[in-house]
Amino acid sequence: MRAALEIEMPETTHLWCKWHVLRKAQESLGPVYTQSGVFRDRFYKVINEMLTVDEFEKAWDDLIDEYDLRKNTFMVRTYEARHMWAKTYSKDKFCLHVERNSSMNHFVEQYNIMLQNRAMEEDTEEHKTKQVKKLSKYMWPVEYHAYKIYTCATYNLFCREIDKASRYVIARNSAGPLYEVCHAYPEKRERWARVKFQVAVIADGESYTCECGLYTHFGILCCHVIRLLNFLGVNEIPKAHIMKRWTKDARDVLPPHLAFYQKDSPTMQSRTFRNRVLVQNSLDLAVKGDTNIDTYEIVMKHIAAANKELEPIIAAAHTGHRTRV
Ligand SMILES: [Zn+2]
Repeated sequence: MRAALEIEMPETTHLWCKWHVLRKAQESLGPVYTQSGVFRDRFYKVINEMLTVDEFEKAWDDLIDEYDLRKNTFMVRTYEARHMWAKTYSKDKFCLHVERNSSMNHFVEQYNIMLQNRAMEEDTEEHKTKQVKKLSKYMWPVEYHAYKIYTCATYNLFCREIDKASRYVIARNSAGPLYEVCHAYPEKRERWARVKFQVAVIADGESYTCECGLYTHFGILCCHVIRLLNFLGVNEIPKAHIMKRWTKDARDVLPPHLAFYQKDSPTMQSRTFRNRVLVQNSLDLAVKGDTNIDTYEIVMKHIAAANKELEPIIAAAHTGHRTRV
């Protein structure tokens, strides 16, 4: 599977599904896993909640030391393959969950099913968003902004980050655009958990970066940036951090069945995805176009128009590429 993906879809990254790791842990660790709820909870946290590499490494070390698993074959192999499954190492990657031993055809089928499911989820989500009349719980101005622009599910995720943000304070070491966002009760945090995060203000507040990397991975601001926005008196989520696909009007731009083709969607960032959709649609046009002379002329007229519109854009792209090199 991995080799096939490297040849057929070189721009994709093959990652393990977290459920694959959890299932293998259950099979391989025996009583340690099945008889200890505490171990299961901690193992689950390592897989799901580690934001940074240092948090992951500390939590993993603590776990294998405490349960005497440093020489356990499964744990050793799983750790060696951590880049394939640990969230902290794939923050900037678009992930597809595919069963083990899948063929390439099955992979493509899964991909299509995922897209269909997403469209169905968005239908349901749009309905829920129209129904929801929930009032803001914290009433931070930035939360009210999120309430106005986001879909119901995204707003709820944002509220979770606001809840966490309320436990942080701001410490500023210099006059520069860098802030330290510190947990107010570090003694209550787990040993592996970071209690300080560096947040940088970019271009006078046009955007923000946090070392936890949550925004890059999920497209929703992390609690550290949200806390800083509140500290600085910023009342709205900066435009640079509003992903169109999470907003209520995401579907106004394209018809519902094409909603996931939004320019800013992670799917559209994949050249492989764009190529596959173009090939499918081109074949569809060829089948329709050869029906008779009239349909042939219509298709050819639009192909000529598309070529005319594309030429200057492609020429400019090539020039830009050469300049960069
Ligand atoms: Zn953060």
